Amino acid sequence: MEIPDKMRAIIKEKAGRGAKFVMKEVPKDLGSHDVLVKVYAASICGTDLHIYLWNKWAQEHIKPPQTMGHEFSGKVVAVGKDVSMVKIGDFVSSETHIPCGKCKQCRTGNMHVCQHLQILGVDRDGAFADYIRVPEIVLWKNDPSIPHIWASVQEPLGNAVHTIFTEDVTGKNVLVTGAGPIGLLAIEVLRVAGSAKIIVSEINSYRRNLAKEIGADVVVDPSNEDLVRVVKSETNGDGADVLIEMSGNERALIDGLTALTPAGRASLLGVYNSDVSINLNDMVIFKAIRIYGITGRKMFDTWYKIGDLLKNGRLDLSKVITHTFDFENYENGFQLMEEGKCGKIVLKL
Ligand code: NAD
Ligand code: ZN
Repeated sequence: MEIPDKMRAIIKEKAGRGAKFVMKEVPKDLGSHDVLVKVYAASICGTDLHIYLWNKWAQEHIKPPQTMGHEFSGKVVAVGKDVSMVKIGDFVSSETHIPCGKCKQCRTGNMHVCQHLQILGVDRDGAFADYIRVPEIVLWKNDPSIPHIWASVQEPLGNAVHTIFTEDVTGKNVLVTGAGPIGLLAIEVLRVAGSAKIIVSEINSYRRNLAKEIGADVVVDPSNEDLVRVVKSETNGDGADVLIEMSGNERALIDGLTALTPAGRASLLGVYNSDVSINLNDMVIFKAIRIYGITGRKMFDTWYKIGDLLKNGRLDLSKVITHTFDFENYENGFQLMEEGKCGKIVLKL
């Protein structure tokens, strides 16, 4: 296939709100282990919205001009001379965390917390473009049977899978706080994993309805209901066995820990805007709670799990992915994300 010199891209051009549609050079200069991928579909992450809105985090982490986006699927169209893990024509997605491969974490099975981590679409050009250049180490080969759009959301799906499977959930009562795009993906994973009861807390009514449609057994609006009381009454007075925290909200964390049964497990993915204050004695220590901090995906344990779940038709992402837009209509996607009237949104290239 002929690779053009210019491509479409959505970039963060400069400080301030917004994103710009431009034509720019295709990154054809490949290092020996680099791969050029023709992007088929790219989904919008909360991080992309932060960059679009130019919040405090974005101001501290992003150096414009830079191509946005990092969740995608596509086809390998060119490879560097030493690439051996993929070949031209392969259908791929990509891990976002680019590890150094040399530090203590990388060498002990913890590449996702590499000391020299680079993140696609944050520290270097991303996937909101016709082509993206990535090192082969982060590429993941997709089964050809997986729809392009579904394959593009495996990175956030991996956040959900990593958070949920830090311990088993089968036959357990699980509380999910926050049904944003990742919380919604988590509900689908919990359903398939055979949790006994899925209780979801979410302040946004659109997402509460969606949570129910995807498979939540009980949905709670914590602005109007006492979450702890509902969880207790839904679990024979015992409390939830597992807390999956995906809101990044302090109140949700505190109520979630309070609603956990003694000797229960909490896995925290949500990112908090400021320091959080909890009563460690009552909420964690004397209840013998295990808390896991979750970042990214286990490389590549999480990807094998997702790949097999998707390939074998176990997961159904059709309800979680609520909208798809043509690439050039990206503004519609960002607007819906800002309003919160969506699950996962995917741009088609
Ligand atoms: P999101 O912000 O779209 O979703 C959060 C949801 O929580 C929203 O729907 C919001 O309405 C809801 N919420 C807010 N306050 C609540 C409360 N008190 N009770 C119940 N629900 C409440 O984010 P997302 O993209 O779905 O990601 C989920 C969280 O995970 C975010 O905090 C995000 O920053 C974080 N995240 C972490 C990692 C990681 O590697 N640790 C990766 C991606 C995202
Ligand atoms: Zn490393």
